[in-house]
Amino acid sequence: MFENANSRTELGEMGEFGLIRHISSSITCKNPDTIKGIGDDCAVINRGDHYELVTTDMLLEGIHFDLSYCPLKHLGYKSVMVNLSDIYAMNGKPTHIVVSLGLSNRISLEAVEELYEGMHLACERHGIDLIGGDTSSSLSGLVINITAIGKTTEKRISYRNGAQVNDIICASGDLGAAFIGLQILDREKKIFLENPKIQPDLTGADYVVERQLKPEARKDVIDALDNLGIIPTSMIDISDGLASELFHICDSSAKGCRIYEEKIPIDVETARIAEELNLNPTLAAMNGGEDYELLFTIRQSDYEKARELSGIHFIGHITSAEAGLALVDKSDHETPLKAQGWDGLRGT
Ligand code: ADP
Ligand code: MG
Repeated sequence: MFENANSRTELGEMGEFGLIRHISSSITCKNPDTIKGIGDDCAVINRGDHYELVTTDMLLEGIHFDLSYCPLKHLGYKSVMVNLSDIYAMNGKPTHIVVSLGLSNRISLEAVEELYEGMHLACERHGIDLIGGDTSSSLSGLVINITAIGKTTEKRISYRNGAQVNDIICASGDLGAAFIGLQILDREKKIFLENPKIQPDLTGADYVVERQLKPEARKDVIDALDNLGIIPTSMIDISDGLASELFHICDSSAKGCRIYEEKIPIDVETARIAEELNLNPTLAAMNGGEDYELLFTIRQSDYEKARELSGIHFIGHITSAEAGLALVDKSDHETPLKAQGWDGLRGT
């Protein structure tokens, strides 16, 4: 399927999403209980009285984390959160995880214990069980792959493809902080490597650094929506930056959108540090990634109810596909959106 004697296509040219599309084009699901295969935050399996949700995410040392500034307990916690976030993004409830590890000889028993401490804490907070996994040695640093299982129902599930024209686009929490936190950690690491006598200075950057090292999947948002009886018409978690996730929702739903720049939630510390680093806070929110917030759309008729939710921001609305995707600034000027999320295969 992928081999051709006369040509060689570099994966970097395709990008991560291009490659996934290519893989997906050769797959047809045959079991009638497969409701959703590739293409959403989770795969969906019909279990009769409920829908089962399955998602997996891999974190690699040197690509997704740097052990010189990422405490193992936090890493364990984060590796669970990134998976739970995908279950919540389907309007589901996580129930179980399995954990597979590739361990290099730099990792001691004590290090593994710390990693699991973080995972246990995550499981406890979100009421899930760790039920298995796999362990291997690794020649290329620490590898953590977690698969999460969850459940929802046919009535409650939110896919990426359900957004309708005039639906209101909502984002939870605030955006861009994890990206700015990473810039600070990288800066301090460089300073330390050049002069090990200088201790890292993270003063005033507690929030952004915590957002990078210890994200929290938004179970509370899913619970609050449930309490109000709101089922989002579409939903995705914000792992690759707001722009990339808007593209996923609009592509899947065959729609466009208008996002109002001044409505994008950006924390004051994030904005201040971004400016100190000569980075545009809006771009950090649009293209940064690793926020693990939820991006979802609701019907206009749910707006009054949704206003009762704290920490939910109404950032724009869905349009027809022909109108495209655009960011509207304070002076009503529209800029077409560009998806520039993290794209591991391009090495960004
Ligand atoms: P997320 O950012 O929510 O974790 P991804 O962008 O990683 O989602 O994946 C998008 C979709 O592609 C998902 O349905 C996922 O299961 C699928 N996918 C990703 N990588 C592969 C792969 N190597 N083989 C098959 N499906 C894949
Ligand atoms: Mg996701």
